[in-house]
Amino acid sequence: MNKVEFITKTSEETKKVAERLATLLRPGDVITLEGDLGAGKTTFTKGLGFGLGVKRTINSPTFTIVKEYLGELPLYHMDVYRLEGSDEDIGFDEYFNGDGITVIEWASFIKEFLPTNRLDIVLRVKDENTRIISFYPKGNDFEKICEELAR
Ligand code: ADP
Ligand code: MG
Repeated sequence: MNKVEFITKTSEETKKVAERLATLLRPGDVITLEGDLGAGKTTFTKGLGFGLGVKRTINSPTFTIVKEYLGELPLYHMDVYRLEGSDEDIGFDEYFNGDGITVIEWASFIKEFLPTNRLDIVLRVKDENTRIISFYPKGNDFEKICEELAR
């Protein structure tokens, strides 16, 4: 299992995919989200938050790098776009080793800090409302999760 792919035709469908993923996650899991502006990274995170029982509205954390939300598990929502080209460590390990789920938009900008076990997700724009969402599991736990999602 090196990849699972979903095609969604509305933002609601993208949220549903994320919501399904949320039910399979465990404390300390790290998810990276890659994709152009408008691909649906924040939309995906909203669905994930809903699945984790987050009641507050999730918005893009562009001006804060990380926002924390309380659900059944804490959700740490990062947008590290502004860290491009810097090697600043904002204390990533505290989040990655914490009790919550970490979701990182533009994760390639902090490659050197990412844990080896993680779920890499890439969103591609096919047309205005169609997205191709690819899951690339890194490590056995995430491979199992992807197998479950592919069922
Ligand atoms: P990003 O965080 O990647 O910049 P956003 O989630 O903020 O992207 O924005 C995605 C935009 O695309 C939203 O306006 C959303 O309504 C729209 N959209 C249209 N179709 C889809 C789809 N299938 N999945 C996700 N978003 C979609
Ligand atoms: Mg975003």
